[in-house]
Amino acid sequence: MSDSGGKKHINALDKFSRRTFVAGGTAFGALAIAGCAGEAAAPKTASSEHVYDAIVVGAGLSGLHAANLLQEQGLDVLVLEGRNRLGGRVYTLMDIPGKPEAAGELIGGNYARMLDTARRLDLELFEPEPGFIASEKLYHLKGQQFTGDEWASHALNTLKGENRELLPDRLLWELTNRDNPLTGKPLDDWIKPEYAQYDVPFSDYLRNQRGYDEQTIELMDIIIHTDNIDNTSALHELRRYAVNDFNSAMAKARPDLPAFQQVRGGNTLIIDKMAEKLNNPVLLEKSVFGFDDDGSKVEVNCHDGTTYRAKQVVCSIPYPVLNAVKFAPRLPTWMDNAIREIDYGISLQVHFLVERKFWEDDGLPASMWTDAPFERFAVLRRGEGDEVTSALAFINGDEAFKYEMMSDEAIYAHTLAELERIRPSTKGALKPIMVQSCHRDVHGAGDWVFWRPGQIQTYAGKLRDPHGNIHFAGEHTALLERGMEGAFESGERAATDLLQRV
Ligand SMILES: Cc1cc2nc3c(=O)[nH]c(=O)nc-3n(C[C@H](O)[C@H](O)[C@H](O)COP(=O)(O)OP(=O)(O)OC[C@H]3O[C@@H](n4cnc5c(N)ncnc54)[C@H](O)[C@@H]3O)c2cc1C
Repeated sequence: MSDSGGKKHINALDKFSRRTFVAGGTAFGALAIAGCAGEAAAPKTASSEHVYDAIVVGAGLSGLHAANLLQEQGLDVLVLEGRNRLGGRVYTLMDIPGKPEAAGELIGGNYARMLDTARRLDLELFEPEPGFIASEKLYHLKGQQFTGDEWASHALNTLKGENRELLPDRLLWELTNRDNPLTGKPLDDWIKPEYAQYDVPFSDYLRNQRGYDEQTIELMDIIIHTDNIDNTSALHELRRYAVNDFNSAMAKARPDLPAFQQVRGGNTLIIDKMAEKLNNPVLLEKSVFGFDDDGSKVEVNCHDGTTYRAKQVVCSIPYPVLNAVKFAPRLPTWMDNAIREIDYGISLQVHFLVERKFWEDDGLPASMWTDAPFERFAVLRRGEGDEVTSALAFINGDEAFKYEMMSDEAIYAHTLAELERIRPSTKGALKPIMVQSCHRDVHGAGDWVFWRPGQIQTYAGKLRDPHGNIHFAGEHTALLERGMEGAFESGERAATDLLQRV
């Protein structure tokens, strides 16, 4: 396990370091750095016995949004972050040409809070070139290669009627949304008991309730953003695509706005600017391992031996990471169980420099969608005009677990060999430069929360319940939105809950 990529990123943050402190191993370290900066107020530390109004644990979108809202309401707020960089699952690879996003990437048209925050922070948004969702790609399935034009009449296509026109990579979205019981319903309806009938294995739902054959289900499984289609709740996927459809509808209502956007210069800039607004600098490398709540204040204990105190806390630590965190008083049993059981879908990215335009050699589309071990491969054009800046293989779910056990060097060798096996023209054309996965990091758990069959009815509506003076935020606690906007929603809700107690 490593804090992959963190070292690179800290360089990119140099310009920002006057307001963001790696608070060393001791309280004095933090004070000394703050003193050198000669700018913002020195962070109060364990030795000061200072009791903040609120401590926010985690400097991802949810934590930073909560912290800013609380500060706007006049509270004295401190943010503690375990990694040596800000942003959590928002992480722009600033050192790679074109600055690809290694995590939270596309800002949907319905991301009201995120769009508003970007506007307030004077950030410019742009519509990125489609990358993975590029319409033109080479498909490689069951050892056969074909282009999108060839799919409708291809022997591997077992769909019927007009469904035959649906490209393999569109099946998951399109078929899930056929007669989706959540379409057009309020976005938080998915937790209502009447939808419990869909909290069953997604593959069973597709087979028994929708009548799709095994081949179609297998194709839908390839890029499912969970472990696999059998241990994913159908309700989870129905919700996911109902939210996506809502996003598309919003985009249609505002044809002047792109359906998906990114921050020019990298999504990380929104994180940096949100942190910059805080009066107390975010303290980095503060891995929280315990909360001690005596009813009037909470002691927040970090791995470096420091303790910070606040009247109330917002905890945005990803759920599976809470396995390593102790609460006094103890959490209720249901929550202990939830922390053990709830998981996040994982993915792994291998980034490459493109040293030769191999697609010009074989005349095939540059990007690929496959059932090979590297799953998806995209050539990114993030430079001026059509310029190719880098490429990446993006592996999701079950297949990604294998890579989690390999060294970076083994991953490079394996991916290049697989690429060359199914696409000989890639030989010598790609130079691997980085492996990134939120799951490989002790402070991360994966990409997004996913719900196994039965979990939604048991847990989904409860994850936002406070525990004493501790409020929980994070994308996994959002009920309306998902991903980055879900993180904003959760930060806002946690801050609102906390303010009601002040
Ligand atoms: C590959 C990938 C692609 C994605 N694509 C999209 C997309 O296109 N659109 C979209 O909307 N969303 C996308 N997402 C999801 C989105 O990035 C997340 O849902 C969102 O950023 C989560 O924010 P958060 O604040 O809830 O959690 P996080 O960003 O994970 O924040 C939690 C913070 O807590 C810190 N932390 C953890 N443990 C401790 C501890 N013990 N002590 C102190 N700090 C701790 C972490 O380091 C982290 O900074 C993607 C995610 C990934 C990984």
